[in-house]
Amino acid sequence: MFPTEVREVLHRLEAAGYEAYAVGGCVRDLLLGKTPDDYDMTTSARPEQVMALFDGFCIPTGLQHGTVTVRQGGKSFEVTTFRTEGPYEDGRHPSAVYFSQRLEEDLKRRDFTVNAMAMDVEGRLTDLFDGQSDLRRGIIRCVGEPKKRFEEDALRILRALRFAAALGFSVEEATGNAIRESRMGLQKIAAERIRVEMTKLLCGKNAGEILLAWPEVLGVFLPEILPCVGFDQCNRYHCYDVWEHTVRAVDAAPCDPILRWTMLLHDLAKPIVFTKDEQGNGHFYGHAQPGTEIARDILHRLRFDRRSAERIEQLVLWHDRQIPPTEKSVARALRIMGEEALRQLFAVKRADNLAQTPEVRQRQQEITELEKIMESLLAKEQCFSLRQLAVNGRDLMPLGLQGAAIGQMLQNLLDAVVDGTLDNDREVLLLWAEKRIAENKKA
Ligand code: ATP
Ligand code: MG
Repeated sequence: MFPTEVREVLHRLEAAGYEAYAVGGCVRDLLLGKTPDDYDMTTSARPEQVMALFDGFCIPTGLQHGTVTVRQGGKSFEVTTFRTEGPYEDGRHPSAVYFSQRLEEDLKRRDFTVNAMAMDVEGRLTDLFDGQSDLRRGIIRCVGEPKKRFEEDALRILRALRFAAALGFSVEEATGNAIRESRMGLQKIAAERIRVEMTKLLCGKNAGEILLAWPEVLGVFLPEILPCVGFDQCNRYHCYDVWEHTVRAVDAAPCDPILRWTMLLHDLAKPIVFTKDEQGNGHFYGHAQPGTEIARDILHRLRFDRRSAERIEQLVLWHDRQIPPTEKSVARALRIMGEEALRQLFAVKRADNLAQTPEVRQRQQEITELEKIMESLLAKEQCFSLRQLAVNGRDLMPLGLQGAAIGQMLQNLLDAVVDGTLDNDREVLLLWAEKRIAENKKA
């Protein structure tokens, strides 16, 4: 059942007289028939005893929490001593952590029944809270009294929703009621921890169902979504309110963090810019621009890395821009955005489109057309960036250009090549540049 490396770590601990188990997410995933991403282990050995046993092959990752990272067969495993936790006073962290000699105590502190099972090296399961039956029935249920567990650490509220989304499970009733009651506790949780869980939620196979069912919980840290809930678009292309459209667009996008976050954020300005014409049709003219600003705000607040934030903002800004199905316009988009971002934009457009009325969905064909054009442009190895242009700045100096004028000329040459006015050929480009310079002098 376990990979060799995991068996070796568990064996070694047992052979030295300690208890040792794989625990948490990996046990859950194994029972679900999935291959775990990583294996966490828990043991009765104290951290210093683990260190001694794996001398030279371990790192004291979080000694105060009892965690040692053990290297085995080129892989890393977190081995954590059985723990119990002191009282939670701030709704985020236990005031103290105590090491324990009993597996039971360690399992009791864990969040959900499906995450609170341990398995020894022989594959024998310890399941004190009916995790197996909840796994079978597809239920997320707190270990212990839900309200108390959420008051201890409010991040568990979001974790419950993320596991429900990722596993396609439903939230058990008492756990669900406690989520609603305790949701304001999420205000105290660090932005980074929220971002990590929210990203996993969004990338879950049942993200849409969870987003639709729990906006008031997510609204604690994303208040910008609340005006979208139930906001009638009064538009024949839209059969869903803004929130349901958003949720369906998230579901329709590939399970990729950038794309899923983009879909979540893409229409947040709609309620702000809404207008109605004389016929009673709703319009959202220019919503992408203020939407980008709202997105920027959220991404900053949740401490996204700059690269991801900028990409998501760019995709929100472009999400409803018309790109005519011509080589010229696709080439322009390719030059401005680059290949990776343009591919993502097409995925965004597809998802956005799939979340509208069935008649509009036929426009998928238009996106396919754009993609084809992009592929053929790329295949032809057309020149899209200055780097690929057949001349560079140094080539222009003998023509008498200097400084900013060189950059400007390169840009003009690139535009002409992208538009198909000029071939990307050194002689052709230099001749054209020379002519331009002569014309400018005359003028
Ligand atoms: P994933 O496969 O997404 O990593 P996971 O179950 O391994 O899922 P982690 O966040 O890696 O989730 O946490 C590992 C284990 O630690 C969980 O299975 C759970 O038993 C426990 N755990 C993590 N966070 C908490 C928490 N806030 N409160 C209680 N137990 C927690
Ligand atoms: Mg994990």
